[in-house]
Amino acid sequence: MSKKDELERKYFALKRKIDKLGFICTGSVMKVFKKCGNPGCRCSKDKKGHGPYNIWTRKVNSKTITRTLTSEQAKLAQNCIDNMRKMEDILQQMKDLSVQYIESYKKDFSVDKNREKV
Ligand SMILES: [Zn+2]
Repeated sequence: MSKKDELERKYFALKRKIDKLGFICTGSVMKVFKKCGNPGCRCSKDKKGHGPYNIWTRKVNSKTITRTLTSEQAKLAQNCIDNMRKMEDILQQMKDLSVQYIESYKKDFSVDKNREKV
């Protein structure tokens, strides 16, 4: 297999991986306990407080957006965050392959026998 074919094969395999990924989003989801501040409330004696609440935070235009999610939404958001990481990892690999493709293009692909490890 030529270098060109090899790079193309790897590149298109990554594109197919992206095709299989579901929804994506940024941020992080945490379980948080909160105290209401009411001195008569049981949470004033409880170390943890009320909760847990599923708090999703993410940056949008350098502003932090915070949302409280149901546990079902929290699972969904976590899945989207995991997909985002996979997507970023795949994109990075695609960029690396593209760089190799461009740099190798200067030479004749078909006679290039030096295969770099990816
Ligand atoms: Zn309370």
